[in-house]
Amino acid sequence: MPNSEDKGSDKSRRTFLKEVSAFQFMAATLGRSLANPPTTTAAGSTFAQSGDKTTTKKKTVAIQIGARSFVDEGVDQCLDTLQERAAVNVLMPTVFTYGRGLAGRQVPGQPLPDHGVQEYDEIHGGSYTKLHPEFYEKSVIKDFRAPELGDFDVLADVTAKARTRGMQVYCLFEGAYNPRLIPNFEKIAEIDVYGRIGGSTCHNNPEARLFLASMVKDWLTTNDLDGMMWESERQGPLNNTLEAHFGRIGKSRSICCFCAHCVRKAKESGIDVERTRQGYMALDRWVGQNLSDGRPSDGTFIRLWRLLLDYPEILAWESQWFHSQEEVYGLLFGTAKEANPKAQVGWHIMHLVTMSPLYRAEQDYARLAHFSDFLKPSTYNNCGGPRFAQYIRNVQSTVFRDCSPEEVLELHYKVLGYDNEPSLERLPAAGLSADYVGRETRRAIAEVQGSVPIYPGIDIDIPTALNEKRTQPSDVKAAVLAAFHAGAPGVILSRKYAEMKLTNLTGAGEALREVGP
Ligand SMILES: [Zn+2]
Repeated sequence: MPNSEDKGSDKSRRTFLKEVSAFQFMAATLGRSLANPPTTTAAGSTFAQSGDKTTTKKKTVAIQIGARSFVDEGVDQCLDTLQERAAVNVLMPTVFTYGRGLAGRQVPGQPLPDHGVQEYDEIHGGSYTKLHPEFYEKSVIKDFRAPELGDFDVLADVTAKARTRGMQVYCLFEGAYNPRLIPNFEKIAEIDVYGRIGGSTCHNNPEARLFLASMVKDWLTTNDLDGMMWESERQGPLNNTLEAHFGRIGKSRSICCFCAHCVRKAKESGIDVERTRQGYMALDRWVGQNLSDGRPSDGTFIRLWRLLLDYPEILAWESQWFHSQEEVYGLLFGTAKEANPKAQVGWHIMHLVTMSPLYRAEQDYARLAHFSDFLKPSTYNNCGGPRFAQYIRNVQSTVFRDCSPEEVLELHYKVLGYDNEPSLERLPAAGLSADYVGRETRRAIAEVQGSVPIYPGIDIDIPTALNEKRTQPSDVKAAVLAAFHAGAPGVILSRKYAEMKLTNLTGAGEALREVGP
């Protein structure tokens, strides 16, 4: 991945960050003209590998990997496999999560892959690297070391060995929590429109911000890392209320955040908080009525739009939500740079960005580029089939009941710019094409105007139902080739090595041999 020293604006940004709060930083950067984005050389097309000037312009092949794989298979054995199979040159070890997507072995119920311990495991979650208490003195969250792997440290026990092989190391973490297992979680939690504590953190809660920043400072100060990537796989209250996601509908809708910090911030912006609450409760009732009414009804979209006209505060609150998320990006970007000015900082953009026009509109890559060194749009085409089909069924049952699910899919293909993708009937088993990977890569590169490199996420064996699309080696090869042909300087193999078949990982290596280093 390109070195931060190539970025002329970094020095001024670091100085700037020492003097201003994260909010001020965000306000200032967001006010900067897009015609004057942060500069990089060669549009992010160079890959300066640590300590080896002969390997510039080498393509980045990064992989996300949990500590469990190193413990099960041995650090050297894992690194051998990654280099031999897929020419991996950037490791992204998971340092913090309470979720199964980035930690542990294969998801129970899914076939075990062709490597690793052939048993399912339990995960507790937390930090998979040692906590240095001095970084958490002011944090209300102090005790969160994951217990299941003993003293194994996914940074200290891996980084040096990776470096001797010429690999870079980026720590990877996600905003996935288990409130039951985190003492004091309620002090950093989001609050929904009904006053209930949610399962994630509030972007505007100072204690939540301090906790995240403390971790970043710890990792990047006490380890010799090349950078970090955060996965904030969330969206705001409007999209959640509309069930605009690819999960199953049925749980209560997450309509957050209405905590005291968010309320205060909204008031300062002149947003009527009580009207917002009434609007979201009305929207929640409207969605509930739609879902419980089995009969197609006329004029659903009209009624939704009328509700938004009655309560424009709904949109204002949604806007505050994603701008607050960007403020946290800005805070972590600045924190990382202060701890290690050379660290490269990037964001995983969740898969929904390739399905939901509502979410895509919020995730403005050009704006994100102002506080990023790279972006990883999740262009997962294999699991994209069943996920997209579920997303379409979800939004058809709420926003688009005036149309059939097939019509809603066609509308989305047109709005999102996809061509020749499968019908709704075939989509879950067929998956999306490699062309979708190429299109999303080109779109991202165009949006950031080359100011930061785009590393598309490549889906290798992300779990699907057994009768749905399953990854094949040719799928991986085609997706990687599509990303490179679209102009990406690298790819990030996702979600985690422990669920990938080695035969599929080899597909990435084959693509690299074909396209050249
Ligand atoms: Zn809040």
